Order: sequence, then C-alpha cells, then structure tokens
Amino acid sequence: MFKTHTCGELRIRDIDKTVTLAGWVHRRRDHGGVTFIDLRDRFGIVQVVANPEINPNAHQAMEAVRMEWVIQVEGIVRKRPAGSENPNIATGDIEVEVQKLNILNPAKTPPFIISKDEEADENTRLKYRYLDLRREHMRRNLELRHKVVKFIRDYLDERGFLEIETPILFKTTPEGARDYLVPSRVHPGEFYALPQSPQQLKQLLMVAGVERYFQIARCFRDEDQRGDRQPEFTQLDLEMSFVQREDVMNLIEDMFTKMVAKVTPHKKLFASPFPRLKYQDAMDRFGKDNPDLRFGLELKNITDLAGKSGFKIFEDIVAKGGHVRGINVIGCGEYTRKQIDELTDYAKQFGAKGLAYLAISAQGDHRSTFAKNTTPEVLQEIIDRMEGKPGDLLLFIADKPAIVYETLGRMRVLLGERLGLIDKNILAFCWIIDFPYVVWNEEEKRWDPSHHLFTSPMREDIPLLDSDPGKARGQQYDLVLNNYEVGGGSIRIHERQLQEKVFKLIGLDPEIARQRFGHMLEAFEYGTPPHGGIAPGIDRICMILADEPNIREVIAFPKNQSARDVMGDAPSPVDEEQLKELHIKLDLPPEPDNANKSVM
Ligand code: ASP
Repeated sequence: MFKTHTCGELRIRDIDKTVTLAGWVHRRRDHGGVTFIDLRDRFGIVQVVANPEINPNAHQAMEAVRMEWVIQVEGIVRKRPAGSENPNIATGDIEVEVQKLNILNPAKTPPFIISKDEEADENTRLKYRYLDLRREHMRRNLELRHKVVKFIRDYLDERGFLEIETPILFKTTPEGARDYLVPSRVHPGEFYALPQSPQQLKQLLMVAGVERYFQIARCFRDEDQRGDRQPEFTQLDLEMSFVQREDVMNLIEDMFTKMVAKVTPHKKLFASPFPRLKYQDAMDRFGKDNPDLRFGLELKNITDLAGKSGFKIFEDIVAKGGHVRGINVIGCGEYTRKQIDELTDYAKQFGAKGLAYLAISAQGDHRSTFAKNTTPEVLQEIIDRMEGKPGDLLLFIADKPAIVYETLGRMRVLLGERLGLIDKNILAFCWIIDFPYVVWNEEEKRWDPSHHLFTSPMREDIPLLDSDPGKARGQQYDLVLNNYEVGGGSIRIHERQLQEKVFKLIGLDPEIARQRFGHMLEAFEYGTPPHGGIAPGIDRICMILADEPNIREVIAFPKNQSARDVMGDAPSPVDEEQLKELHIKLDLPPEPDNANKSVM
C-alpha cells in the first residue's frame, strides 16, 4: 500500500505517530513562509504542513505541487496550534508535519475546480466525469447510492429472496417504450432486444419455483429524455409467488421505511403507513397519479355549479362533457394582474385555453373573470365549495378533463414551490391503486394496458373485459414519492387463457403474440403459481434522497439530455467492416447533421 492511513481518519489519538498518506492536492496555500496542503482521498481531507525551518527539502517539494497532483506524504501527526483547528473537517484538530514528499503524478489544471461544488457547465462535467466524481457532493451521492443498494440486498436476503441475474440480450419486453436492438452476427438479419425490464424473466423464475426473486436490474428504454429519464436506468426488480397485492405493498413499504431510518435519518416520513389512494381520487384531488402529498392546495370540482352558473363559457364546456375544477391559493388574493397573467400563460402550455379566477381581497371585494356573469347564489356556492376566504385567490380551469387535470396538477406544484410549502426533508410516500385496467388509445383506436400486458385485472372485473373494458380495474399499484412515481408493479396473470384474452383485448395479433410471448403462454401451462411483483427505480429514489434535481446526479456515468455519452462519445459511427459482418447497410436521412455520420 502507498498509505498507512486514509486522509479522513487521523485524530488527536494519533498525535506523534509517523504516517504515510497518499491522495490528491485539494488546495495549497502559503502562510508566512510555511506551506499548507489539504490532501484529499475518498475518505476525507487532512492538512499537511511544510515548515522550511524544520524540513527545507520537503518544503521545497511542497512548493512545486499544484491542484490535483497525486502525491505521497510521509510525516508526523501534530496537534494544530490552538485557534487554528478546523471544525468543518473530521481531521480538523490535527495536521501532518511533512518529512518526505513523493510526487506520484502531476496533473493538468482541471477544467473546473474540484474543491468547490460550484456550478460548472453540465456537458463539461459529463465530459470530464472522472474529475466531476472527485467532487464532494458527487462522492456523497455515490456513497448514498451504495448504501441504498446494500440496504436493499441485506433486507431482501434476510427475507429469503434470491438475487438472480437475467440476460441483457433477450427479446422484446414491452414497457411502453421503443426497444434498443442489438444485431446478431451469427444469425444475420436477426436482433436481440435489450430488456425494457426483466418482466418476462422474473415471471418465468416464478414458474421455476424461485418464489422470491430480486435483482438490481439495468433496464433499457429508447424514449425521449427528460430530467428523470435515461436510456438505461436501474430498478430494484422484484417478484414473489403466492402473494396478493397487499403482500407486495407491505413488504416494499416496510423496506423503504427502514431504509430511510438507516440511510437518511435526517429525512422524515410524511405518513406511516403510506397513504393508499385510488387512482381516481388522486386525479380528483391532485390532478395527477403521482401526487405530492407534502402540501395542500388540493383541487376541487365545481363542474356541477359551473354548468348552471349563467357564465356561458363554463356552461358550454360543461355541456360538451368538460370539467371545471379549481384550486384555492390561500392568501394570494392580492396577486396582481401581471402575476395572474403569468399563471395564465403557464396554463396555456398544457393546452388550457384560459385561466378563470376569483380574487378575494382582505376586505372581501372580488376581482374575477366570471363573477359578473354568474348568479350570486351560484357564485356563493362556488366560493363555499372552494372554501374561499377574504385574502384568497381561486383559480379555475374549464376544459376537457385531461387538460383540466394536467394543468391544475402542474399549477398546484408550481404554486406549492413558489409559496414555499414544500419541505424537502419530508418524504411523502404513497400508493396509488385501483387504476383502470386499460386506457383507450384514440389515435390507434384500441385499448392499451395501463400498466403492462402481463398485469392481471381484478378478478371480479374479468367479465367487464368483454362488456365494458374501460370500467375494469387492474391489480396494479404505483409507489409515489413526493412528486414522482418511483415504482410500479402488479399481480400478474398466471393462466394462459386469461393472458390470451388480454392479448386479444389490446388488439395483439395472435401470430405476433405467439412469436413474441409464446414461451410465456407455454410456461403458464406447466403449473404457474399466482405471483406478483414490483420494480422501484433506484435512480429516482436516490435522486430524491440526495435532494438532487435530476437522476444524472446519482448515476456515475450518465448520458446527457440528448442520450449521448459525451465522455466516451457514444453513440458513434462504426467501421464498414463491422457493419458488413452484421449484414447492415445504412440508409441515413438526408439531414445536415448526418452528413458526417457515415462509417469511419
Ligand atoms: N416491469 C415493470 C416495470 O418495469 C414493473 C413490474 O411490473 O414489476 O415498470
């Protein structure tokens, strides 16, 4: 070893010991002829001092080193002179008086300062990720992620789960995204699909009698990038046999409750047991099925009142089957016209045609887009339903239900943030249950599974699949944390007949169903136990626990927002020979961007 101690472990108890340390030069400064270095390794920072009067050679060597050089230091641990202790670091009571300094490797000046967590351009950070990861907050994120995964492994191991790896080269496992395909050289013209999740394989492990499976599984989905999406991401993939919905939910709830207590004890759970909301209630109260429960500003439905209000715009929308719903922004009755206009512009981003409002001043006077045209009785009923008080601002969206929900759902979060109602140290987990089993796809004129096609409908709703599929509920559950869906799962279909019925319902051609999922249908005929599972997203959970704004901050080597690895420069063209071996000819679109993208 190049070191006897790490840079984080020396304390008063080590005074007078001779130690050897190795690490990076975090900072260097000179004070009255004496040179100080903060030496950093993964475990901490320690101050190293060179005094020309004590050891002129070492002092001279120390003067030469620069930021991020890798050095080895031999020296004696000393108590720091009174008054010069540094309470901000664990080794702050001591320093190491250098006797010998060995330069292991000099370094170029880094493109951003490692010792400061200040903002650097993200693409630069990603290009030099190996430097970015040296920074304090990234190191903390890596440690947190390690602790989360270790906790999961220990917890599940203690409860009889087996960790089993499933293949990356497999066939399509649809989870609603495009597949990443891998061409086969040995089977020209044929492709593997990278798993969008190990869904089929974990179910087959249940057929295999494993009963309790988990995997820290990499999933691949070719979809448009957003803050909390990556082309590849990590799930805790889990499946259990002989369970009902409650069993899976209770296990996961207990696991996260204990994980938070151990890994992020400074965070508090909003509620335990986790609240369980029916899908429709979540939509009605929060406008979304991943609601943030940490604050109020809940939606209220005034459709019935709006329909008889005398205000023509409301009445016309209601007559066409639209909804009118609102939020009471408590205490914002004095919002200026400009502030309300800003909110109107925000609403328009989500397809809303406008924002109706009623601002109640502290004296009880009204400013409103619709009050003048509304009968006084109905107006009072609306105010009562909204629990409007002097000083409140009532905001309404009247539109198609989907637009009303989305706009108010987003506006609620925006206002919650703006009004400082969100405490980042509170973790509001909740479960969403009783989802519709299928949703109507207007473009394709067919039913789509609202979770995935292996999810079981509620047993009692099976007859509805024939008579009124839109009314059937699925045996699925989503785990929501703060403003994010952090996991989804379901009780699965375990009988061939029902699986085939569902394939038919969602318009899957029987021949394609056989080609894609024939092995599943066949397996179901060999004694498949009832089973179910879930897959919480590790990246999103770590992101929230680490108070980060996006999942890239908790992934060691993420892609950027256009799905590019800017460090390794991937994806990148391949040489002609490789394509030939794969029997692939490129037919690129004539975009200027593609001019240089032919083979190398
Ligand atoms: N395979 C599902 C997903 O990736 C999770 C599950 O149903 O267990 O979302």
